[in-house]
Amino acid sequence: MKDSFVKLQQLQGVFTRKYEIEDKIRLVPRDLEEKKAALEATNRRYLELCNRENQLKQQMEDLKLQNADAEARREELEKSVEKLSLSREYDTVKKEIELAKAEEQRTRNFLIDRQKKIEELQSDIAEKEEVRRRQTEEVNSETAKIDEIISALQKDLNAVNAEISGLSEGIPESLLFKFARIIRNKDNLGIVAIHGTVCEGCHMTLPLQFVNNVRSEDDVYFCPYCSRVLFYEEVAGAEKQTFEPKQHDDEPSAPSEYSIASEGEFGDDF
Ligand SMILES: [Zn+2]
Repeated sequence: MKDSFVKLQQLQGVFTRKYEIEDKIRLVPRDLEEKKAALEATNRRYLELCNRENQLKQQMEDLKLQNADAEARREELEKSVEKLSLSREYDTVKKEIELAKAEEQRTRNFLIDRQKKIEELQSDIAEKEEVRRRQTEEVNSETAKIDEIISALQKDLNAVNAEISGLSEGIPESLLFKFARIIRNKDNLGIVAIHGTVCEGCHMTLPLQFVNNVRSEDDVYFCPYCSRVLFYEEVAGAEKQTFEPKQHDDEPSAPSEYSIASEGEFGDDF
């Protein structure tokens, strides 16, 4: 059983490295996803602006036709007015000329307005094109970099997995699975010592009979409070302190000595 504890302690270190690598792999693409999303948003906006520009250009074509129609109508009316003799007809045509002039003016104003809008849009489009170019470049170069980083991390991960399978030999798969999960969920600490009757993982006092079971090393035991794998470790003073908790009044210095010894052991081991 001692060998198993040593193996589990070694495995703990390797699993910790494995999780660090997996976390790195998970985090790497996330940065790029944000950049890709930004590029997609720019592309969408860019297309919207281009569509708007096309709409405005179409409107301008229509307005030019309307303007030309109004102009032609006015010119025609102006020619015909010269031939008219009756004042009633003259007034009617004059009115129509005024209407054609108004239409010419209206369409001309619209054309000026649309032209201004198109120029504004074209400046926005040019700006977006520049953003788009920069973002595309960034995404492409980062994709290449990330591919390189991930393939290096994947290589590390393969090495760590090979190390794990080497160290796991002889350890039941169910124990290994549980142990790996504990390391993941409990701050990379899956196997801890019992000092006296205290679990050094969660600092809870364990039942004496349970501690004796762990001490007997007949099986793998898990802390009922923090779920970590337990092994018994002799610590100067800790046992005495735990098993004989009541100090006599004539031994006042004893508890502090024990406590220092216990801390020293803890520091060396972890
Ligand atoms: Zn515990």
